[in-house]
Amino acid sequence: MSAQLAIQAQGVQKRYGHISALKGVDLTVTEGQIFGLIGANGAGKSTFIKLLVGAAKADKGSLQVLGFDPRRHKAALRQEIGYMPQAPALYEDLTAAENLRFFGRAHGMKNLNEQVETTLDFVELSQRADDPVNTLSGGMKQRVSLGCALVHQPSLLLLDEPTAGIDLRLRSAFWQHFKKLAAQGTTILVSTHQMDEVVHCNELAIIDEGSILTTDTPQNLLQQGQAEARVWRGGQMEKHALQDYPVDLPKALHAYGLDPQIDRIELEANTLERIVLGLIEKAARLSGGK
Ligand code: ATP
Repeated sequence: MSAQLAIQAQGVQKRYGHISALKGVDLTVTEGQIFGLIGANGAGKSTFIKLLVGAAKADKGSLQVLGFDPRRHKAALRQEIGYMPQAPALYEDLTAAENLRFFGRAHGMKNLNEQVETTLDFVELSQRADDPVNTLSGGMKQRVSLGCALVHQPSLLLLDEPTAGIDLRLRSAFWQHFKKLAAQGTTILVSTHQMDEVVHCNELAIIDEGSILTTDTPQNLLQQGQAEARVWRGGQMEKHALQDYPVDLPKALHAYGLDPQIDRIELEANTLERIVLGLIEKAARLSGGK
């Protein structure tokens, strides 16, 4: 069973002094997926990823990443994973290519030069390969950082808010890169607080105040949303709540036949973003907070 699972977390807890950053997280990520960890600022995303890469230690619970315990087998695990931290950790005085070479060498790669070239091409930085990182734009630095996480061709990528603070065009390019990698068999866990990015994930977990609220596919979450059909007939507006949109839509409209009096029909369905926000707000109400 564990051969299929890239990540397995059970009852993971982490405190920083009086702050309970993770309150018993259970999560499994199957190999080959783009798995989204979605949550607001301070929800616990970075903390969870730091535990996965062995950079911090859980207080309670168990964690398996590619079959390794991240704390006990940190060195072996680092060979297999790529980690892009939230703030790019680059050598600013070195060029983009030198940064990638540095990370590649740390993994003892044999075909280093070739792989650095391929990776720079992949993140569309070949033109700036020989420029020092401190002369690159913020978005380019993010791409160098992604390249450093990728250069040794890891089977699992852990990306902590890789698209934070970058423009829309570059965000879209990043997601194209992630999809390409996933198509080549790389498992990707990506955290984000940008709700519109959830549609790109095969599966997602919504994390809020250190707890996983739900884990599901974007398609299933969409089905939790309500939709409404509004029909204007003879100057009157009639509303129909659709529990199971679009399956319920023909039923709602059936009663009207081809009524010539109908002069307008409007449909409004919840977006995935709104559904995710609704789940977070509902959890806050139930816990009596916010
Ligand atoms: P963001 O989207 O803002 O990066 P996040 O979901 O990644 O947020 P975390 O950085 O994991 O959230 O933080 C979870 C909680 O743990 C927050 O309340 C944060 O203040 C706290 N926290 C994180 N790191 C530390 C630390 N080193 N010392 C003390 N508290 C910390």
